[in-house]
Amino acid sequence: KRMERIQKIIAQSGLTSRRKAEQMILDKRVKVNGQTVTELGTKVSAKDKVEVDGVPLDREEPVYFLLYKPTGVISSVKDDKDRKVVTDFLSEVKQRVFPVGRLDYDTSGAIILTNDGELANKLMHPKFQIDKEYVAKIKGIPDKRHLNILRKGVRLEDGVTSPAEVKIMSADRKKNTSIIHLTIHEGRNRQVRRMFKALGYDVVKLKRERYGFLNLKGMNPGDIRELKPHEVKQLY
Ligand code: URA
Repeated sequence: KRMERIQKIIAQSGLTSRRKAEQMILDKRVKVNGQTVTELGTKVSAKDKVEVDGVPLDREEPVYFLLYKPTGVISSVKDDKDRKVVTDFLSEVKQRVFPVGRLDYDTSGAIILTNDGELANKLMHPKFQIDKEYVAKIKGIPDKRHLNILRKGVRLEDGVTSPAEVKIMSADRKKNTSIIHLTIHEGRNRQVRRMFKALGYDVVKLKRERYGFLNLKGMNPGDIRELKPHEVKQLY
């Protein structure tokens, strides 16, 4: 029975932003139950049929999950080599959810799954700068100079990284490994591995401990939980 503004429904479907959806309404491109919508404030319920340019909008109740992705899992909804994918952890959910961003096959940690295209677009947009905190086990023990380069910015082939928080948690001199906490605000492909590699360190283990305010407390690899309404609100 919940009524929502049409522009919100259109944006959540992932079709476009709320602002552009408003323009579509003004341009008379949106119909509800066959009638062209003229008012921006028009609200619809789940039963109403919404069309944009004559094409029915895919409508599902928005759902939001936090997955503790284990290593050995692909961050997509299907894999051509039949490897395990993140949505395999959600067998009872009928909505078609997808991951917000990606974690490498070999990386474990926090990843959001949702069918809300508007939130996904927002979280992945560089201007939102969501904190992502990683724990990396690396080969080698970085000195002060290297730690400062990681903090200030590392030159990668796709540009210098933006400032990061970096802390050595422990170092094993016999094995020549160390554990580093690194918080970044961007989300480039394989960014953490490439940042270390640029300074000569191989990452042997990588886990995303935190995505924004969402951490993995109380969760084990493979666990999934639904986000609470106040958490969804906070993400928006
Ligand atoms: N950085 C990486 O290198 N890999 C990830 O999966 C996430 C961040």
